[in-house]
Amino acid sequence: MRPEFNILIIGGGIAGFAASVGLARKGHKVTVLERSSDLQTFGGTLLIPANALKVLEDYGLLGAFREVAEKWENHMIYRHDGKVLDILSNSANQKIFGYEMLNVPRQTYQRLLYEAAVREGVKVRFGARVEKLADSSPLPYVILSTGEKIEADLIVGADGIKSTIRRVVLGGKDVKLQPNSTCYQCSISSTDMLSNPITASLIQEGGLQSWWGPNTHLICGRRSNDLAYEASFFIHPRPENPLPEYHVSSSNSHEAENSRKGDLSQVKGNVGMYEERVKNFVNMIKPEDCLLWKVAQLPNLPSWVSKNGRIVLLGDAAHAMSPHLGQGAALSIEDGGVLSHCLSRASSADEIPITMKAYESVQKGRAENVKRLAEASGVFKTLEEGKEREKRDKGFEERLKGQGEEGKEGERYEFFRASGHLAWIYGWDFRAEAEKELDKVFPTEKRAKI
Ligand SMILES: Cc1cc2nc3c(=O)[nH]c(=O)nc-3n(C[C@H](O)[C@H](O)[C@H](O)COP(=O)(O)OP(=O)(O)OC[C@H]3O[C@@H](n4cnc5c(N)ncnc54)[C@H](O)[C@@H]3O)c2cc1C
Repeated sequence: MRPEFNILIIGGGIAGFAASVGLARKGHKVTVLERSSDLQTFGGTLLIPANALKVLEDYGLLGAFREVAEKWENHMIYRHDGKVLDILSNSANQKIFGYEMLNVPRQTYQRLLYEAAVREGVKVRFGARVEKLADSSPLPYVILSTGEKIEADLIVGADGIKSTIRRVVLGGKDVKLQPNSTCYQCSISSTDMLSNPITASLIQEGGLQSWWGPNTHLICGRRSNDLAYEASFFIHPRPENPLPEYHVSSSNSHEAENSRKGDLSQVKGNVGMYEERVKNFVNMIKPEDCLLWKVAQLPNLPSWVSKNGRIVLLGDAAHAMSPHLGQGAALSIEDGGVLSHCLSRASSADEIPITMKAYESVQKGRAENVKRLAEASGVFKTLEEGKEREKRDKGFEERLKGQGEEGKEGERYEFFRASGHLAWIYGWDFRAEAEKELDKVFPTEKRAKI
């Protein structure tokens, strides 16, 4: 019989709730401690790629996510001046990777995971802020702001980019965040867009639209819940356009202190070189409909597992990355799948540390690679005029004509992204990878008994 462990998850974001579902489904007693008083209520939409959908399918949640996802087929990639660089097809994505790319509002993403957690018997405590924790032996513990002390067999730090748990995992010394870009998430009334002959086609053609310009890029699409057109406008720093002062303490996290009302003049001041459709819809944005995200990433950490092996990190707390590949939350979902799978091999609490090291071996190097590729993807999209950009655009021309290596199959998926590593990112089989690692760690005789 598999042992049932007491597990505390700190943080009720996407990473924490997803991991709680995976662990509860394996029979553990799981509690999520979330400092906010309720679920998140704002934010744009997030892309959910194949690697995360595989885990959600394993949890029996794929159908529910498909039901709430925005329906889209084409993703048009334009250069800032309106030249078509590429047309990506969601059905090609499905054909090649086994799953389409879902697009789901952030709050729905979190809510579906929360509801699944509750169904699986996870205890969720809102308004529970962890102030302190200790990697003590035999059991680690946390202390809440109320003074309450809670021990557990395993503590999972899913407390986001500014993680408190990380400091303890790293032996008391935290790392410095690396600011990446500024994202202005704006919404525009679809009715206004439709009544303007220049922007109407963007609503009529549907799907997603991206524009890539020098040091800036946008990803846009219409939301079906409130019919607004949503535009995420990224500004990458350059010498004459540095990140604002407050950005130095950046975070991707959704809390009020980290995402705030954006300064619309920053968006307006940076679309001068964009085509008319973009300039027109940017002019329709109301100042109150512009939200700012300070986008940052974490450097690679020395470890994700504490000295005693009973405190472990996942999600943004472990590998916050820039969103230019749409992989931050996706990898968090994977982390939970791998961690739950690895823990299943522990036949007693003494074996928890070794299984957590196995989890780290599977996910840490991968997350670091994806983080690097996401950063490179941001650079690729925002190239300034010059040889590199000419080469990029020539590659797209050939691809659109069905020529060149990437256009051969005529498949309209995002081959160019992630420097050709997309199949590795999307095709990750979290169970098989966990099994492979566990087989290295545990002797064959032991495996036969489990
Ligand atoms: C503009 C933008 C676009 C993005 N687009 C995508 C995308 O398309 N696809 C994708 O996969 N990813 C995307 N991401 C990344 C994604 O949003 C994050 O990777 C993901 O939300 C991280 O989830 P998390 O649960 O690890 O962290 P968080 O969402 O930060 O959650 C951490 C939780 O821990 C709680 N907490 C913190 N400290 C404590 C404490 N001491 N005690 C108790 N609770 C605590 C917080 O209140 C919070 O609820 C995007 C990010 C940005 C900024």
